[in-house]
Amino acid sequence: MDYDALFRKHLDQLRDEGNYRVFAELERERGGFPRARRHDGGAVSDVTVWCSNDYLGMGQHPEVIATMHDAIDRCGAGAGGTRNISGTNHDHVLLERELADLHHKEAALLFTSGYVSNWASLGTLGAKLDGCVILSDALNHASMIEGIRHSRAEKMIWKHNDPEDLNRQLSRLDPARPKVVAFESVYSMDGDIAPIAEICDVAEAHGAMTYLDEVHAVGLYGPRGGGVAEERGLMDRITLIEGTLGKAFGVVGGYITGSAALVDFIRSFASGFIFTTALPPSVAAAARASIQHLKVSDAERMKQRENVAKVRARLDAIGIPHLPNPSHIVPVMVCDPVKCKMISDILLDQYGIYVQPINYPTVPKGTERLRFTPSPLHTDADIDHLIGALTALWKQCALSRAVA
Ligand SMILES: *Cc1c(COP(=O)(O)O)cnc(C)c1O
Repeated sequence: MDYDALFRKHLDQLRDEGNYRVFAELERERGGFPRARRHDGGAVSDVTVWCSNDYLGMGQHPEVIATMHDAIDRCGAGAGGTRNISGTNHDHVLLERELADLHHKEAALLFTSGYVSNWASLGTLGAKLDGCVILSDALNHASMIEGIRHSRAEKMIWKHNDPEDLNRQLSRLDPARPKVVAFESVYSMDGDIAPIAEICDVAEAHGAMTYLDEVHAVGLYGPRGGGVAEERGLMDRITLIEGTLGKAFGVVGGYITGSAALVDFIRSFASGFIFTTALPPSVAAAARASIQHLKVSDAERMKQRENVAKVRARLDAIGIPHLPNPSHIVPVMVCDPVKCKMISDILLDQYGIYVQPINYPTVPKGTERLRFTPSPLHTDADIDHLIGALTALWKQCALSRAVA
């Protein structure tokens, strides 16, 4: 059997569909964000990153780096085991306390990533609660979908951000069954934000628990960076808040927060928590430093908002269509997979601007886009350069403009 031929057949199919993924090879440079070096074969060039999920540049914040160095000097490299077998370090416990405080919950639980936290938590809730039904927003992230699938619980999909549809679906269910309403706050591809209060109203009316993924909101929204639920004063109405330490907090890892009983339940039954080595203590310490910084500093969030507004205004001025939304995500709509990839390639090769094309299946066909995430560290010169490049490319590629 020629296994490589089998692998290649699938890869060729992916290429034919235009869905083959090519990674840009970057070398991040401490203190230089959003600047990075790009390696392309033997060639090395400087690029400005415009699509990072290190939204505030905290991955290079001096306090975060110093804390991480210090923790390595104190504790060494790895955690030493799973949390159950010699892997629970003091830094993990301190970080879990910090996270519980961030979301005003009784307890928190760390995972090796946000993906794993969703997969393991939804998987465990759906599998362990007898007769559980999980009601999932139609645009939920792959990690939630996979967790729900893995749980084998009954799944119902409600229309994206539509509390009325959720209400209709909940009304059909036996009131005695446990129900989990799973959704996100900021959706990362369109940058729209869920009507969290209305969803809570509906869930509460039907006795359902709420599961909120705040991965694209923690660190960025709310007076202490607790997310959209904090900003809107709704944290106490959410049963379980899930987040990442890898995006705005700039490190890596995932977590859930909730009541002591809920967190103890996941801790005790989730295979994806139990049977894997804990995060390095240095990672936990650095994430805690980042959270602590963003709890008291608004400067990064304010500057980010200013830059997001600037980029949007400049795009409007040159008539380049972008999805309006209330978040920090600026999706520039190309609506053609080939042109989307081509523009991204030209921006990278000729202008030193890195923005990854977002094509099907990540977004529906015909809505291909460039997803810009302006950070507090992009300068006015960076914005000028970006707008100049987009102006030239829109002409060159005969793309449609918004009617001003
Ligand atoms: C990125 C992402 C995750 C996964 O978080 P990681 O920490 O990167 O594994 C979960 N949910 C959503 C909505 C995401 O975009």
